[in-house]
Amino acid sequence: MENSAEESLPSELEAIAKKTEEAVRVAHLLGDNAHAYAKKVYELSESCLMAHSIRSVQRYLEENGKGRHWISLTPTKSGQLLPRRAFAIIQPQQTDIIVNLTVEPEHQRRGIAHELGHLLFVKFFHQRPPSLGRIDPITESACNVFEKDLCKRHHIFYSLEANLKKLLFNSLRDHPVPA
Ligand SMILES: [Zn+2]
Repeated sequence: MENSAEESLPSELEAIAKKTEEAVRVAHLLGDNAHAYAKKVYELSESCLMAHSIRSVQRYLEENGKGRHWISLTPTKSGQLLPRRAFAIIQPQQTDIIVNLTVEPEHQRRGIAHELGHLLFVKFFHQRPPSLGRIDPITESACNVFEKDLCKRHHIFYSLEANLKKLLFNSLRDHPVPA
């Protein structure tokens, strides 16, 4: 038994060494990608318009008995949407908001807000989803009110100095990121 244990030792060590080598290789690979992903996610975040509102609508739906609902944004430059700023394809468990990149970002934001209004009225008041062919003036008017109200609330939030300070991530000031 002793002999066979001794004999098997080198190959076990070899196996451990190989595993360690592999672990180091993976650690380097993941480390490099962690930087790359952080950069990509940070850069993309600037163009993720209305991200908090989208997240909030998802949460509101879930907390009010409508289940999990996936909301995605599909940017397009095709111009097919013109003169619309955005258009929502609302399905039972997911909504895709097609965003017109050929209009100003501010109009894109407001368009997304308007479509989120459509989603809420579809879910809570069984209103017809928006359609490129016909317009229901009552729902349209309600979505316009929702859009203006939500954007106004954001505007007021960002126009107050105290709120801007909240956005400065005090956690980073109190716990600075090591160089
Ligand atoms: Zn509409």
